Amino acid sequence: MSEALANLLNETRQFPPPAELAANANVTADAYAEAAEDRLAFWERQAGRLHWARQWDQVLDWSNAPFAKWFVGGQLNVAYNCLDRHVEAGRGDKVAIHWEGEPGDTRTVTYAELHRLTCQAANALTDLGVTAGDRVAIYLPMVPEAAVAMLACARIGATHSVVFGGFSADALTNRIQDASAKVVITADGGFRRGKPSALKPTVDEAVAKCPSVEHVLVVRRTGEEVAWSGKDHWWHETVETASPEHTAQPFDAEHPLYILYTSGTTARPKGILHTTGGYLTQTSYTTHAVFDLKPETDVYWCTADIGWVTGHSYIVYGPLSNGATQVMYEGTPDTPHKGRFWEIVDKYKVTLLYTAPTLIRTMMKWGEDIPAGYDLSSLRLLGSVGEPINPEAWIWYRQHVGRGELPIVDTWWQTETGAIMISPLPGVTHAKPGSAMTALPGIVADVVDDQGQSVPNGGGGYLVLREPWPSMLRTIWGDDNRFIETYWSRFGAGANHGDDWVYFAGDGAKKDDDGHIWLLGRVDDVMLVSGHNISTTEVESALVSHPSVAEAAVVGATDPTTGQAIVAFAIPRGSTDISGEAGERLIADLRNHVAKTLGPIAKPRQIMLVPELPKTRSGKIMRRLLRDVAENRSLGDVTTLQDSSVMDLISSGMGGGKSDED
Ligand code: ATP
Ligand code: MG
Repeated sequence: MSEALANLLNETRQFPPPAELAANANVTADAYAEAAEDRLAFWERQAGRLHWARQWDQVLDWSNAPFAKWFVGGQLNVAYNCLDRHVEAGRGDKVAIHWEGEPGDTRTVTYAELHRLTCQAANALTDLGVTAGDRVAIYLPMVPEAAVAMLACARIGATHSVVFGGFSADALTNRIQDASAKVVITADGGFRRGKPSALKPTVDEAVAKCPSVEHVLVVRRTGEEVAWSGKDHWWHETVETASPEHTAQPFDAEHPLYILYTSGTTARPKGILHTTGGYLTQTSYTTHAVFDLKPETDVYWCTADIGWVTGHSYIVYGPLSNGATQVMYEGTPDTPHKGRFWEIVDKYKVTLLYTAPTLIRTMMKWGEDIPAGYDLSSLRLLGSVGEPINPEAWIWYRQHVGRGELPIVDTWWQTETGAIMISPLPGVTHAKPGSAMTALPGIVADVVDDQGQSVPNGGGGYLVLREPWPSMLRTIWGDDNRFIETYWSRFGAGANHGDDWVYFAGDGAKKDDDGHIWLLGRVDDVMLVSGHNISTTEVESALVSHPSVAEAAVVGATDPTTGQAIVAFAIPRGSTDISGEAGERLIADLRNHVAKTLGPIAKPRQIMLVPELPKTRSGKIMRRLLRDVAENRSLGDVTTLQDSSVMDLISSGMGGGKSDED
């Protein structure tokens, strides 16, 4: 039988946890054994970290698989867990959010204040007719009101649907319509790249096409002039004048908490539904375990936008349920200068930093002199999420941000999984650069071949999850069939292979010789070259391991002799000369470098040196668009693209034929 996915890259570096962190870690190696012994009892103990108004009767009801129910019969209030219980325990004066606006204005929001604002927003929403089960769309910049809006919905049992503030009117319209949202919470605008960026006109355009919307709440942020209609209410006149008294009612563990659309890297976005008890249990536990968060002393910063699942789970629900102090930043990393992120780390003495590979590679492109200009000595742990992190980017992150000594947690998860699933434990794992390592305690992950059989160590294939987990998606909003079709029909019971339901994540992966898991990119992007299935990630990592390359994307393009051939797009590092002959030489050098690192089968047919890559608004590379370019097709759906002019740049370069045939 043919291999599902080739294993070409061999990485031998490995880094033990710092001794001090290991000695004081929140979670030790025992957790793996405890969870393996009794997985459901393990999750019950983690649920016990929360405040429940009513204890559950059953941990997991999987009788209607793949539709799960966790903590059946239990009742809790998410906002109570994130706010009230900290205030009641006397921690009201503790800072919840150090907020930094892009222009440099700041706000310090304590738990008491976040609680008060959330109660006021809960009362205001109730006055506008919002009741439990109603949907509320949230379209806001990175301001504290974004967290308040989400928590207020959770508090009254309304289901929020956060739409990233960079999305167009059409994208917003579709999402409001898909969920029949009754209220939209927005702002006049936010600050991006040094200037106000309006949001309200986009909402006006969308609401005109969305009869379900009865009211629009508008936060004043930029102070720019906005059009006004009968549905509109200023936040400061409505929320900030409402009563701060509000008693949180408990909701069923399976009450819908939110809908969030996937980022659309591969296909039409899916409205992922998350519910209450299991979701909060796992986001809360993983924040504690993976970031080793010590709420009394740590200053945590997750650089994601609230519009993505990372912002939901690791800005709002995970950190706040643990009583963390965190930084929230409104703007872009290069405004007003390329050191802004490091300046923020320095200013707030950030200890735990969670960011994305795209950002790390951008920093590599800008050069290590920039972080070197700031005092980053407060940092004690670094995290990564969103894409595979290339070993060289991992090493750069550790070297130039982590002083060559900090642990890095490479966390694999998805909108669908709700919380981190595969990651090192920072006080336990001897991490390998580029590997997410092992499933967390209580999670059962595997890599399987086409037949759904576990691959041996050293083998590649498809990443699957073999057991349900608390924060799993419950369905795709309004589309149970697409839910079953997309995630449960490839392997296991849903494919008529045995009795067990197996979740198919859509990602390729391999197990190395020690059984550690390496993510290899999306299955849809795998390249079939002369009968070998080659992962995009490994070829990209090989390119990034060349000292002149900061970032790379590869795709398979139809080829008359090999079936598909590898076409690579590479962004050179800061000072690299790529003009004329130097560029040609670099391309030849890169092709040989890949062949030497991974073997001749992986040698790209063609390499293009480009200034940027097409990315989704969450910063992920959109390979399907590059495939269109490489095969000279007109471009597919570009609505989730961050900057569509990038594609013109790349397409025009393509005509220049920077190919280098043997
Ligand atoms: P769509 O499903 O609509 O195409 P998307 O998959 O980009 O969008 P997300 O749910 O935000 O939307 O992204 C999850 C995906 O991101 C994972 O399936 C995986 O491909 C990738 N990913 C996230 N974290 C990691 C990681 N640490 N290592 C490797 N890949 C990762
Ligand atoms: Mg996905």
